[in-house]
Amino acid sequence: MKYVSTRGGVEPVGFADVVMMGLGTDGGLMVPERLPAPVGADILRAWSKLSFQDLAVEILMPFVADEIPRADLQDLVQRSYASFSHPRVTPLREAGGRRYLELFHGPTAAFKDVALQLLGNLFEYLLRRDGGELNILGATSGDTGSAAIYGVRGKQRINIFILHPKGRVSAVQERQMTTVLDANVHNVAIRGTFDDAQRIVKTLFSDLDFKSSYRLGAVNSINWLRILAQTIYYFHAWGQLGGDPGQRVSFAVPTGNFGDVFAGFLARRMGLPIERLIIATNRNDILSRFVDNGVYAKGEVYHTLSPAMDIQVASNFERYLYYLLDEDAGAVRTLLASMQQSGCLQVDGERLRQVQQDFSAQAVSDRETLAQIRATYAASGYILCPHTAVGARAAAAEPDAVVLATAHPAKFNQAVREAIDREAPPPPALQGLLDKPTRCAELDAEPLAVREHIRATLATEANLS
Ligand SMILES: *Cc1c(COP(=O)(O)O)cnc(C)c1O
Repeated sequence: MKYVSTRGGVEPVGFADVVMMGLGTDGGLMVPERLPAPVGADILRAWSKLSFQDLAVEILMPFVADEIPRADLQDLVQRSYASFSHPRVTPLREAGGRRYLELFHGPTAAFKDVALQLLGNLFEYLLRRDGGELNILGATSGDTGSAAIYGVRGKQRINIFILHPKGRVSAVQERQMTTVLDANVHNVAIRGTFDDAQRIVKTLFSDLDFKSSYRLGAVNSINWLRILAQTIYYFHAWGQLGGDPGQRVSFAVPTGNFGDVFAGFLARRMGLPIERLIIATNRNDILSRFVDNGVYAKGEVYHTLSPAMDIQVASNFERYLYYLLDEDAGAVRTLLASMQQSGCLQVDGERLRQVQQDFSAQAVSDRETLAQIRATYAASGYILCPHTAVGARAAAAEPDAVVLATAHPAKFNQAVREAIDREAPPPPALQGLLDKPTRCAELDAEPLAVREHIRATLATEANLS
């Protein structure tokens, strides 16, 4: 299978290249040149009986095509999900009459582990096979940083530098990152805000000399592999519901960068009988407004109780536009140009009806989020993380919809305490964090300081090896 850019400016590349590339060199997002034909009822039925790992291999195989032997892929998948604490990896669980797809049994207790554990192993595999090395650079406001660090800790030929704003991430989040002592993990606390950290990363990536001579790469949610890996649990959820090909299932998806819900869209294109995909947003409601009226207009970013969804411009949205516009890269460029010019883009008529067929959407306030945590706890004793609560609330009118539980509630105990006046007990992944030793550099919010730190760190390593 070959991959192209949503903006049409990248010569078709293979699977290994698309994984290593991340963002397309034309600024677009990479997508398959042609999606595989949807799977039929027989295959669906057979897949419903598979373990998460075996299912993952079946789903990934056509996208990998002939670039990775099946046995190697099996090994990569086995190793990636051995780090999950639940035997079903992403178990479906019922509480108070609602079904939750628990995506938080990985090493950092949030759903990003599902894709990043596999991505880290794939990076290592491809670098070993094809040569080269990779220095990952990213900024985090909390969750993604730790999932990325756990994805690549201890891996050969990979270093990771993660910047976080000093004193502005929660104690648990900070410890999740800084207690990882592997030699290839480099945490940097920036004396500044998250925006400062992000600006520094952008500045360093735009220094093309530095970027190429230091082989800088990113692990953000635009990597195609992350989307693909997230389709696995939609199929797995459906299988756990019984695997009757006549049964259609709806999913409510707590949404920020549109990666998770786009994976659901893709799963449907791949043949999974999904009835409805409910985009659940918090007060940052650009996507729910788009589904309502076809206007995609950037607003102000609000801080909410579900911080992983405090996003205005959703980076994966462009992939959906591409499919909405019948895979016409020229039409995507035209719409994006209007966005660039006027700060908003719009679809109407038949296209808007298509959007409303593909998704429904609901924005949920902090007050409603807390009320949902309270109500679910009262009804069942089950504690929702605030992101999952947004999903449950958005699906209130659809009791049969499966809600994606995107994080363990103990990661967001402040909100949990506010709702129910007690805390969720930490899962094994979060226990004892405050007593472990840490390692972290501290730098001024200056691109040059970070650049020098990366240079010096890599130079020291080169001398040691
Ligand atoms: C990242 C994240 C989300 C949002 O997922 P997207 O793929 O960005 O839409 C929701 N909940 C949690 C806990 C997250 O970490």
